[in-house]
Amino acid sequence: MYEDKIISGKEVSAYEKGLIADRVKALKEKGIQPKLSVIIVGEDPASQTYVKGKHKDCAECDILSDNIALPESTTQEELLAVIERLNKDETVHGILVQLPVPKHIDEYAVINAIAPEKDVDGFTALNVGNMNIGKDCFIPCTPQGCVNMLEYAGIDVEGKDVVVIGRSNIVGRPVATLLTQKSATVTICHSKTKNIAEKTRMADIVIIAIGKAGFLTGDMIKEGAVIIDVGINRNAEGKLCGDADFDSCIEKVSKITPVPGGVGLMTRVNLLKNTVKSAENVEK
Ligand code: NAP
Repeated sequence: MYEDKIISGKEVSAYEKGLIADRVKALKEKGIQPKLSVIIVGEDPASQTYVKGKHKDCAECDILSDNIALPESTTQEELLAVIERLNKDETVHGILVQLPVPKHIDEYAVINAIAPEKDVDGFTALNVGNMNIGKDCFIPCTPQGCVNMLEYAGIDVEGKDVVVIGRSNIVGRPVATLLTQKSATVTICHSKTKNIAEKTRMADIVIIAIGKAGFLTGDMIKEGAVIIDVGINRNAEGKLCGDADFDSCIEKVSKITPVPGGVGLMTRVNLLKNTVKSAENVEK
């Protein structure tokens, strides 16, 4: 009934995967096989599921991937040595360390040990800095996914009032930067923001990434608003759900991304795109 309001991650992801496969084919014809190396430290079940998904996605698009599973007891020095080896390995185009790393390891040091030209997550200080000044770089996969969803739905953000709820380094902050660069007027809200509803009710587009199931309700948005829901939560029944309360928002929105089947799929696609971009950079 509301199908025309849904921006389907499945649809966008299938379209994007077709384009990626074409780029991989072109690279292979030139003798370049794109490859992603994924490092996982410890046994966190959620991280293991995410990593499995990344390998499956790579296989689907003919991107090679290898899995480097290290025990929880791995020292920071050992992990840095693995990254250094991959930095030097010319057959590896993308390096990803699945986060979080165990507490005894300094996440910042690990991320910044990755060669920026292989940092397909876009988390190194150099890529973050370049993104902020609008230079070519690896853009983090989830914020880029939000932009992709808006573009695919034909929503021009120029001059639009956007409220981003959440200011994390991996989602809220970078998505606000990307949309500002596209000439949207962006307000960032966080846990200390007073009266968020007052701000969201004025917004043409609300992007929410806070990790609180059903936080954004229909009475907090204006008629015709667009919602990009980044949150991934489990509700009381154990079902996956977003940060927006889909049922109370759907009637008012002009477009909304579902959870599951929304931004998460774009995050996965953008990792593949960044890996292919890195392989293409090799021949430049
Ligand atoms: P995070 O690092 O925990 O950051 C959460 C942000 O939300 C913080 O800025 C926090 O404010 C803000 N916040 C928390 N409670 C709030 C409230 N009641 N009102 C307003 N702001 C509030 O989380 P994250 O890594 O950005 O992830 C956010 C959500 O997105 C999670 O559900 C995560 O699973 C999901 N996610 C999805 C994808 C995907 O591919 N779809 C990718 C990454 C993350 P303060 O800064 O003031 O603490």
